[in-house]
Amino acid sequence: MEKLYDQHGQVAVIALHNPPVNGLCHELRTRILAAQKAAEADPSIKALVLIGSGRVFSGGADIREFNTPKGMAEPTLPTVLDALDFLQKPVIAAIGGVCMGGGLELAMACHYRVALHDALIALPEVKLGILPGAGGTQRLPRLLPVETALNMIVFGEPLPARQLQSTLLFDAILEGELFEGALAFAQKIIQDNPPLRRTRDLPLVSTQDAMAQASALIRKSLAPHYPAPIRCIEAVSGAFSLAFDSGIQLEKQLFQELVESDVSKALRHAFFGERAASKLADIPDTTKTRDIRRVAVIGAGTMGRGIAMNFLNAGLPVVLIEQHQDALVRGIAAIRSQYESSVKKGKLKEADFEKRLALLTSSLAYEDLKDADLIIEAVFENMDVKLNVFKSLDQVVKPGAILASNTSTLDVNAIASATSRPQDVLGLHFFSPAHIMKLLEVVRGAQTAPDVLATAMALAKTIKKTAVVSGVCDGFIGNRMIESYSQQAMKLLEEGATPQQIDRALEQFGMAMGPFRMSDLAGNDIGWAIRKGKLAISADPHYPRLADRLCEKGRFGQKTGLGWYRYEAGRREALVDPAVNELIVAYREEKGMKARTISDAEIVDRCILALVNEGARILEDRIAQRSSDIDMVYLSGYGFPLFRGGPMFYADSIGLKTVLEKIQNFQKESDDPFWKPANLLASLAAQGRTFNSTVG
Ligand code: NAD
Repeated sequence: MEKLYDQHGQVAVIALHNPPVNGLCHELRTRILAAQKAAEADPSIKALVLIGSGRVFSGGADIREFNTPKGMAEPTLPTVLDALDFLQKPVIAAIGGVCMGGGLELAMACHYRVALHDALIALPEVKLGILPGAGGTQRLPRLLPVETALNMIVFGEPLPARQLQSTLLFDAILEGELFEGALAFAQKIIQDNPPLRRTRDLPLVSTQDAMAQASALIRKSLAPHYPAPIRCIEAVSGAFSLAFDSGIQLEKQLFQELVESDVSKALRHAFFGERAASKLADIPDTTKTRDIRRVAVIGAGTMGRGIAMNFLNAGLPVVLIEQHQDALVRGIAAIRSQYESSVKKGKLKEADFEKRLALLTSSLAYEDLKDADLIIEAVFENMDVKLNVFKSLDQVVKPGAILASNTSTLDVNAIASATSRPQDVLGLHFFSPAHIMKLLEVVRGAQTAPDVLATAMALAKTIKKTAVVSGVCDGFIGNRMIESYSQQAMKLLEEGATPQQIDRALEQFGMAMGPFRMSDLAGNDIGWAIRKGKLAISADPHYPRLADRLCEKGRFGQKTGLGWYRYEAGRREALVDPAVNELIVAYREEKGMKARTISDAEIVDRCILALVNEGARILEDRIAQRSSDIDMVYLSGYGFPLFRGGPMFYADSIGLKTVLEKIQNFQKESDDPFWKPANLLASLAAQGRTFNSTVG
């Protein structure tokens, strides 16, 4: 039988071992409990040390057991911690690396804790819409001042152990070797033989008044829509007003309530969705990736600059290529000024600013691409221009280099076919501003090689993006859906709503920005140019034309000071402009339309269900691999409210039968082919299934 612990003199050393983060899975929990019992029964053992590796103590619950019977099977974490509480020999947690969630709760139930100075300590449960459910809310205020404890529990951010030095949470902060340090500490405890110090029996560190003050301050900074932070405060409050065991009961009850809340379900969906998005069904995780040591960006315009910064920030050298010297000079100056402003705001150290700029070179000659391992094209959105660029690239770049286009709408397969190596070509669709926006759509061409995709997904992690794979279609996942959403916003305008009513209704639903404010920010002329190029739109009698009228008046948005709103110089506040209302009224008159009163609920339903219906088609067409990928696109790139989990999850949570009925009603009322329900939606609704259940 496997050894439960190693004996070092009078000390039993229990190793936590469950790679990659020593998640507290059922097997590990069982082993810890058995080892505790065995060590207690062994008279030669006088103290126990619980230790992980230098890299990780424990990341908490094992996410692989989430939603499985094993996750809740005995011994649960609270059972293990109860046993620790009643152990008659001192237990020391030796903490290095990550110590989070259940891992920290385990450590807090030990009698002593020693930690490496840089160990990362957190209770991040709130980020999944829950609270620490294994005594964390009751033990932490017995070890830390309440203000620190509350901040850790309510916001879930990690702190380095050294920042918590001189608190009861840590008995020693170690600089050197964890194991040796922990063993020496255990031996000293054996020698001194103090009475057992159980966290549950300790008095609260702070007074009730301090608790009231800290919670009043924190409540002011909480975002609406998220119940967990409030419940965290209530649970910690219980530590002050209740005996330990009753506090634990309160924590359990609040935990249960949160686990079942829609918001927590949405947050957990997003958490797993992010992990799932990086996996490709037909490309194994073991696929060997290509080495990317040097990057080239073609085009130093709005996108090229931001794209280049991503790689400079990650420490990769970038060569920026342009067709004109002045464009190159402008591009480099813009990058420099972005970094300078980060330095001024204290977000970037002067030395890092120098380092990043030193990694940037520039050129007007394609010859200088010959050493690049990845080339990202960000030139004008014009097929002929792009085809010429890719033809030229094909002549100079080395074999095996990856060729990417940042196109928003063009056919990546057509672009790939301009080269002699379509297997090396893919789309890398960054969003503006490219150095800030989290989303990266990785567009998989018909011939893109598996290792090229695997490399792109790995690289996305290096540059801290959320990458989602999309097939080739007009607008890929995100913009294809936003087109339907914008069309509905525009039709609502024609029928009687105002831009500010529509924006407000959708912002109250939780969208970061309503469609009209968003369009003003992005530039109304971008959509106008795209619409002009599409025959299907020109020929569609149902297509709303108001946005074209706006653009014909030169109202391109914030950049011209006038758009759906008016903007004062140097300010971004969207001000209502009567001229826009006049334009809308004149348009309705011309079309013989009579304005009606439209409810906010109708606005939300029509805009959001337009997204959902198009999302269903995208799934049906296999443009997206899974419905959570669509949610990730909307959460990370389009300001969809996280607490709703993304458009597809939102549809699942209200029920696809209801979604279908609403869409069928819109179809009946408007007689607009726009509202034809997607086949996938109809069939899933008929089967009582969800979009999420279609995950393969
Ligand atoms: P931009 O007009 O700001 O910049 C394009 C740059 O490419 C210009 O500086 C131009 O001089 C340069 N260029 C043109 N032809 C070239 C050539 N043959 N060789 C080298 N340089 C050349 O355009 P942008 O907004 O940065 O857009 C670039 C691409 O990114 C387009 O495909 C666009 O659809 C896509 N995109 C744009 C956004 C956005 O919000 N602007 C978002 C996502 C994707």
